[in-house]
Amino acid sequence: MTEKERQEFKRFASEEMDALKAEIPRLEELVKPVAPDNAIGRVSRMDNIVNQSVAEAQLSKARVRLARLADALRRADEDEDFGLCLVCDEPIPMARLKAMPETQYCVECAE
Ligand SMILES: [Zn+2]
Repeated sequence: MTEKERQEFKRFASEEMDALKAEIPRLEELVKPVAPDNAIGRVSRMDNIVNQSVAEAQLSKARVRLARLADALRRADEDEDFGLCLVCDEPIPMARLKAMPETQYCVECAE
């Protein structure tokens, strides 16, 4: 990976982490249980439960992604071989690194 690619990846990871850090508190707000005395009807309450579980799924996904990006960012800083496949030593395509920052294998070796 060239220095320029490393910088590009780090910028990408930092920006996405910032977006997730803004998104997570918003999702945390959504998964909070609605007070029982809340004056919403039964149907809205059902809606709310559905929305809550959607938000919960999004929240755990966002947290996992954030942790993976943070780890990749640390590796990009510390590991000279960051972006190279652990098996064949070939560069992992940038698009793959961005989509799966936790990956340390190229597509062929991951299979
Ligand atoms: Zn490989």
